[in-house]
Amino acid sequence: MRFIPAESPVFNNIKPGWWFFLRNDELLIKTTGEKTEIPFMDDVNIPGLELLCMHYLGKLDGSPCFTAELTVDAQAPEGMVFQGVRGIFGLLGEEIFQLACRAVHILQWDRNSQFCGRCPNPTRADTLERAKVCSMCGFRSYPRISPATITAVKRDKRILLARARRFPAELYSVVAGFVEPGETLEECVKREIMEETGIDVKNVRYFGSQPWPFPDSLMIAFTADYAGGEIRIDKNEIMDAGWFSADALPRIPDKLSIAWRLIDHFIENNL
Ligand SMILES: [Zn+2]
Repeated sequence: MRFIPAESPVFNNIKPGWWFFLRNDELLIKTTGEKTEIPFMDDVNIPGLELLCMHYLGKLDGSPCFTAELTVDAQAPEGMVFQGVRGIFGLLGEEIFQLACRAVHILQWDRNSQFCGRCPNPTRADTLERAKVCSMCGFRSYPRISPATITAVKRDKRILLARARRFPAELYSVVAGFVEPGETLEECVKREIMEETGIDVKNVRYFGSQPWPFPDSLMIAFTADYAGGEIRIDKNEIMDAGWFSADALPRIPDKLSIAWRLIDHFIENNL
């Protein structure tokens, strides 16, 4: 593995190293001819770039790796461009995309936890672990991770796909939803599919997981089998749902998401 996460959020000797500079959810990347990469720098002081906050992420290929938030008006230095994080998957591969996701998640948390959630005082960064500590009451807060389940349901040789209201035109995907307090992952799978499509499922099996920092989810993927019921959609969330065979699928999500991996797995086993 190229990346080893940091045990401590603080690292004092910052050069040379890899830098994940973010301007909102755009990452600064370096382009040299045909080659595209994350900037590897001896000096973090680039004229025109102001760092709002900085975090040590760990080591990438043996060198320290950092992320820093830039001001919204930051201009890319010569030979570099800002690229939306989702576009990194196609340009720089899955591992760098995952690291960019980690950077986005940590910086968003930093931005959203400047003040204590219990009293109205400012927080400070802890030096031993990635946490914010209230300067007045001592309340600690950690990066928030919101688990959500996403499930491929199979009936004979067909898969259940739904078109959510928030999706781009014509896109269908597997059913997903956030875990509620007090709920197991399996209960969440069954509840979300029943609520959104009216379908009962059985044989819920773990498939894989993916951090998804838009804004702070951890997607936990499952497969399941049809157990009963007819499609009855929740019109507040879903526009359409149906059973699709592998050779007649609608438009599905991009390769970078675990939704695609679930659907691809279904295709491989049911064509
Ligand atoms: Zn406080």
